[in-house]
Amino acid sequence: MKKSKILEEILAEVDKHPEIMSRREALKYLSVSPLAASILAGATVGTTAVSASDAKGKIVIVGGGLAGMSTAARLKNTLANADITVIEPDPKSVSYQPGQTLVAAGVWQKSDIVYERDNFVPSGVKLIKGSVTAFDPANNKVVVDGKEELTYDQLIIATGLMLNFAGIKGLNGVITSSGADNAATKEQVGKDGLYSLYFADGAEATWTGIQELVAKAKAHKGPEKLQAVFTDTNTPIKCGGAPKKIMYLTHARLQEAGVADKVELTFYPDGGKMFGVPEYHDAILEQFKTRGFKWNYGHNLVEVDTANKVAIFDHHTQVKGKLDPDTGEHEMITNHEKVEVKYDFMHVTPPMKAPDVVGKSPVGSEKGWVPVNKETLQHVKFKNVWSIGDVAAVPMAKTGGSVRKQYKVLVDNMVAAMEAKAELPAKYGGYTVCPLITSLGTVMLAEFDWSAKPTPSFPLDPTKERWIWWLLKVYALKPMTMHGMLSGKA
Ligand SMILES: Cc1cc2nc3c(=O)[nH]c(=O)nc-3n(C[C@H](O)[C@H](O)[C@H](O)COP(=O)(O)OP(=O)(O)OC[C@H]3O[C@@H](n4cnc5c(N)ncnc54)[C@H](O)[C@@H]3O)c2cc1C
Repeated sequence: MKKSKILEEILAEVDKHPEIMSRREALKYLSVSPLAASILAGATVGTTAVSASDAKGKIVIVGGGLAGMSTAARLKNTLANADITVIEPDPKSVSYQPGQTLVAAGVWQKSDIVYERDNFVPSGVKLIKGSVTAFDPANNKVVVDGKEELTYDQLIIATGLMLNFAGIKGLNGVITSSGADNAATKEQVGKDGLYSLYFADGAEATWTGIQELVAKAKAHKGPEKLQAVFTDTNTPIKCGGAPKKIMYLTHARLQEAGVADKVELTFYPDGGKMFGVPEYHDAILEQFKTRGFKWNYGHNLVEVDTANKVAIFDHHTQVKGKLDPDTGEHEMITNHEKVEVKYDFMHVTPPMKAPDVVGKSPVGSEKGWVPVNKETLQHVKFKNVWSIGDVAAVPMAKTGGSVRKQYKVLVDNMVAAMEAKAELPAKYGGYTVCPLITSLGTVMLAEFDWSAKPTPSFPLDPTKERWIWWLLKVYALKPMTMHGMLSGKA
C-alpha cells in the first residue's frame, strides 16, 4: 500500500496508542480490506476507471447533493461532449451528512462538515441555483422555480429526501438535512431535552443537549434514574444506523463523565429487530445488553408534549383475530395502544419522505419514492429518466455507501442508453455499508447487500467492534467522499 496523507494520519493516531494496536497490525487490517485499501492507497483516494464515450444528449440532474454532484462529475469524466445541467437550490448541498453523528457527539465541529456547493460543481457542468417545481416526463421537461422550463434528453432525479418532523404531532417543519430553512423545526427540536442529529443545526444542538444531560446526571441524587429516550420511525430512513449511533455515543459521554449509572437509555424502534441482517442484529443485541440499554419494539413516535417532556408512542402488536373456518388459521390483526413515556433527554428520528414535488408528480409513486429498476436505476415507466440516492425506490439502505456503488452503475447504463445499446450493461448489487459507531473509539463496519448477509470486504469477523474502523470513519471516509466520490472517481 502506497502511503497517503490519510494513512499517515491514521498511523500517527495508532502510534499514540501502542497498547491497543501496533502500526504493523494497523497496516495489516487496512491492507486486507479492499474498501480501506481503495481509500488509503495512492495520493488521496482510490479511483475507479471510467470509459470514454462520444454519446451526445442534454442531461439534467435534479438535486446537487452527494448523489447528484458525484454523478455529474462521473458523467463529465466519461462523456467527450458532455452537456450537463445540475439544478440545486442549497448553497451547502454537498455538506458531509455522515459527519453529523460525530458533530452530535462533540468529536467534530459543524464547520468540519459544511462545504460550499459552488466549489464542487465539476468544470464544464452548468448549475441552476433553483428548485424543480414540476416534472413533465411525457414532454421531457422540468420547470424551475415555477417559471423557467428546461428540456432534456436524459433526466436524473437525485433530490434526496425530506425530514418530516411535522408528521409527529407537536413538532413542525419538513426540511432537508443540510438546508438552512429549519426555523419552524428549531422552535421545538434542539432544546429543552429534545434533539435530532438528522439536520446539521440539530446535530450541533444535540451535542449541547448531551452535555446538559451529563451535567444533570452529575447533579442527580434521587433513586430513580434519568430517562434518555431514542426513537426510530416507521418510514424508510437515511442512515438507519444513526438512531442507534447517537445512543451509543450518548452512553459513551455519560460513561466518560462517570455517571452512566444515573441514566437509563431506552431505544424505541418501530419494527421488531435491530438490523435487517441477522448477524448484525444479534451483535447489536449483545452490545445493548453489555451496556445495560433497554429497548421496546413496535413503538412509533406519534406525538411529543414538549411542555411536559412526554413522548407518545403508537405501540402496535399483532394479535390473533377471528378463526377462518376454511383454513383453520386465525387472521392476524394489529392492536394499537397509546404509550406515554416521560423523558429527560430524547433523540428523535423523524419520519422521512420524498419531496412532494417529486413524490406526487408523474415520476413519483404511491409511496412517493421514484420507482426504478433496483439493479439498473432506470425509471420503470420513463426510459430516459433515472434516479439515485435517498429518493430512489431502491429497497436498500439509504446511505452514501449505497450511492458510491449506484452512481457508477447509473452512469454506465445511461451512457449505454444514449449510445442506443440494446442492453443496459451494469447492475447495482445492493452493496451498502453502515459504519455503526458503538463508542468513542469503536465501530462495527456492517457491510451487506441484497442477500441480507454480511459481505465484509476483508477477512475479519464483521460483527466485531474495532478501533481501526473508528479510525477509518474519523479520518478516511470524509476525504473519500469529498475528494473521491464528488470528483466522480472513488
Ligand atoms: C445524520 C446522518 C448520518 C449519516 N451517516 C451516514 C454514514 O455513516 N454513512 C453513509 O454512507 N451515509 C450516511 N448518511 C446518509 C448520506 O448522507 C445520504 O444517503 C446521502 O447524502 C444521499 O445523497 P443524496 O444526493 O441522495 O441526498 P442529499 O445529499 O440529501 O442531496 C439531495 C439534494 O437535492 C436537493 N433538492 C431537493 N429537492 C430539490 C428540487 N425540487 N430541485 C432541486 N434540488 C432539490 C436538496 O437541496 C439536496 O441538496 C447519513 C445521513 C445523515 C443525515
